[in-house]
Amino acid sequence: MQAAVLFEQGQPMRTEEIELAPPQYGEVRVRMVAGGICHSCLHAADGSWTGIPVPIVLGDEGAGVVEELGPGVHDLQVGDHVILSWAPTCGSCYYCATGRPVLCERGAPQAGTLLDGTTRISLGDQPVYQFANVATYASHSVVPASCAIPIRKDMPLDKAALIGCSVMTGVGSVINTAGVRPGESMAVFGVGGIGLNAIQGGGLVSAHPIIAVDVNPQKLEYAQSLGASHLVDASREDPVTAIQRITGRGAEYTFVAVGESSVFAQGREALAPGGTCVLIGAPPSDQDFTFKAGLLGREERVIRGSTYGSARTRADFPRMVELYLAGKLKIDELITDRYGLDEANEAFRALAAGEVARGLIVF
Ligand SMILES: [Zn+2]
Ligand SMILES: [Zn+2]
Repeated sequence: MQAAVLFEQGQPMRTEEIELAPPQYGEVRVRMVAGGICHSCLHAADGSWTGIPVPIVLGDEGAGVVEELGPGVHDLQVGDHVILSWAPTCGSCYYCATGRPVLCERGAPQAGTLLDGTTRISLGDQPVYQFANVATYASHSVVPASCAIPIRKDMPLDKAALIGCSVMTGVGSVINTAGVRPGESMAVFGVGGIGLNAIQGGGLVSAHPIIAVDVNPQKLEYAQSLGASHLVDASREDPVTAIQRITGRGAEYTFVAVGESSVFAQGREALAPGGTCVLIGAPPSDQDFTFKAGLLGREERVIRGSTYGSARTRADFPRMVELYLAGKLKIDELITDRYGLDEANEAFRALAAGEVARGLIVF
């Protein structure tokens, strides 16, 4: 099968013919139909995330068709259309049992492997790592069954792919993690693939105003088309002052989708008393986040993290599909460019340059 393989961080990927072993216990093989180009893969490829084992097939967002079941898989069938999830869930650990499966305690033992600590792909004798379990930059992938979420067959799979990371992470941070209610104010710092979906999450629950903050005018335009009521170009005006002006007392919710401490600080300063600042996306783990403890305590502000939009993947992915098919969730508008697998490097370049809302690899 064909895959885009990263042999060294900071170097371009190469499209290679690689071998795929059959699914083991609790795994399934999926034929990929489309895979989104995500910022976390860019971080892994360009070296801004350390500790990524190589060679590796990247890709954490995708959708396809189940082709083969490993032993012990009873809740999927060959031919099922699935959205891939990068977060396996065991269904029985403390967090799965208490309704927070994104915190599942039984993930892969090390980055780049499946749950048993090995991988199903190889190049000759050399094992190739699988990014985020699902390794979607390949024509096929073997994944844990809990990472393949079945959906309606009338859902176009190229659109479905985006639900697997950017849509769920952004929309979910608003409707699941924060639980924003109608008429509450919110601001989103950084409107790339995830921030844009936080904007549309705000639209889904009728938040108002919905303020988009970015330094890229093109991204602000995308934000407007996805439901932002106000746009703040942070290269021209101080976003904290602008948010105070628009909201009167500060935003009830801020969502920070930029991994920089200066932006964390703005997200916290732009809060109204009692407001909540939610960190989304994938901030580099060595970034510090400082705040004045007095302000936090006296005015009941909240700072919290959100991973994968606090998704309960098995329920939330089909829910996103229903919203898309009902015309309430925008995905077509997010897909600005399509690439072949051999154009993956160009897709990364365009993402790094801020030229695209979401690029999609189609197989
Ligand atoms: Zn992603
Ligand atoms: Zn679990």
